[in-house]
Amino acid sequence: MRRQLVAGNWKMNGSLVANAALLAEIKAGMASAVCDVALCVPAPYLAQCQAELAGTAIALGSQDVSAHAAGAYTGEVAVSMLQDFACRYAIVGHSERRAYHGETDEAVAQKALRAVQAGVTPIVCVGETLSEREAGQTDAVVGRQLQAVLDVLDAAQVDKMVVAYEPVWAIGTGKTATPQMAQDVHLALRAKLAGKNSAAAAEVKILYGGSMKPDNAVELLAMADIDGGLIGGAALKAADFLAIAAAA
Ligand code: PEP
Repeated sequence: MRRQLVAGNWKMNGSLVANAALLAEIKAGMASAVCDVALCVPAPYLAQCQAELAGTAIALGSQDVSAHAAGAYTGEVAVSMLQDFACRYAIVGHSERRAYHGETDEAVAQKALRAVQAGVTPIVCVGETLSEREAGQTDAVVGRQLQAVLDVLDAAQVDKMVVAYEPVWAIGTGKTATPQMAQDVHLALRAKLAGKNSAAAAEVKILYGGSMKPDNAVELLAMADIDGGLIGGAALKAADFLAIAAAA
């Protein structure tokens, strides 16, 4: 039985003052052990969030991680640095990084590998654009993106990652995949995982992301292969984030 994970992706939002208020509200409203919960915050706020989340069941995560261990990579953040702040998760391959920073499937795979090797769980994002969906290429695109990661992991490492299906056309747009559309893709992704390690495929959490809100979370999270959510906009409103976590 896979335990659901609701992970917030704050993206490039927040301030010391705003974070403190948001975290206070989330901590006060979080029912105990509803599901696994994580917050993926901007790197400059890792220390603040680590301190605020200490002693809670809410895990800390980053929004990216370098493929490199250390060295002359200006602006990048090493997985060892994330571990200094007790990060348990690192988002890799978010569509905004793929689109605005030219991250290739292979680069994303190297980041995922670096995280897994360090014991940090990568949340590997995959998703098709609207034109790819309309051309009937969804399974091929997300399958290619996931396969690149599976190609660099050992079979024994497959259950060390989380996958997030995030249709690009649904991110921040208010458009959501229907539960059945998402379920169909999640099933295809699980089959792809099973090609590498069938026992692990049954264990890997596959999250849905893309305009998940309190009013659509219950239906999405009820689908057999949807094991939680990666939440952008709604993670910035404590009440919405708490309602989604309660639906999981
Ligand atoms: C995301 O960016 O990961 C995301 C799912 O955003 P939103 O919930 O705002 O669509």
